[in-house]
Amino acid sequence: KSFEDLDINQDLKKNFEKCGYKEPTPVQKQAIPIMLKNRQILGCAPTGSGKTAAFLVPIIETLKGPEKVGVRALILSPTRELAKQTVNECMRLSEGRSLRVQLITKATEDKFKKCDILVTTPNRLCYLLKSDPPAISLSFVEWVVVDEADKFFEEVGRSFKDQLDEILMACTNSNRKIAMFSATYTPAVAKWSLKNMDGVIRMLV
Ligand code: AMP
Repeated sequence: KSFEDLDINQDLKKNFEKCGYKEPTPVQKQAIPIMLKNRQILGCAPTGSGKTAAFLVPIIETLKGPEKVGVRALILSPTRELAKQTVNECMRLSEGRSLRVQLITKATEDKFKKCDILVTTPNRLCYLLKSDPPAISLSFVEWVVVDEADKFFEEVGRSFKDQLDEILMACTNSNRKIAMFSATYTPAVAKWSLKNMDGVIRMLV
């Protein structure tokens, strides 16, 4: 399957090519059609396999353009560095769609502004959710992406699970779906996904 065969708009295909990508990588070939069908996914794919575009392409395609409601896609990254890279890739892939993409991490102390796609770290997001009144609403979130899930469970330790539960509680949209990506299929990742992701499709690349 080439990128041409994927059910996405021409403008996004052009952006994909402009990034210098000629063919979708294996993880992209598998994940993009699954997410376009609104199915929850657990993708196990090594770092460097192109998983960022694998979840960004279907998200950008389904969000189409900006909307006033607020955050519709929430991307959780374990580190600020990864969050920054994801924002950069998102800007390149969504060129021309006018989607508002925002990065919020602790180091920047950024204030939350209305946006369509929010890329953040769980610590910082939980801090914003806890402020009174809450500095952010997640009630319109359609997609929650947990990127490099295994790192989350390792590095942030036990509190990660609690933070993720807290974040999901705030995503009250009945249409909320989770896409989880992990370099390794660890017992913690398996257990969490079974419990929290109904009808999840597991994908091993
Ligand atoms: P990632 O796994 O998302 O961190 O991507 C690893 C690297 O592969 C990044 O530098 C991407 O820009 C690049 N990449 C992503 N998709 C493709 C593709 N279809 N063809 C060539 N390179 C790609």
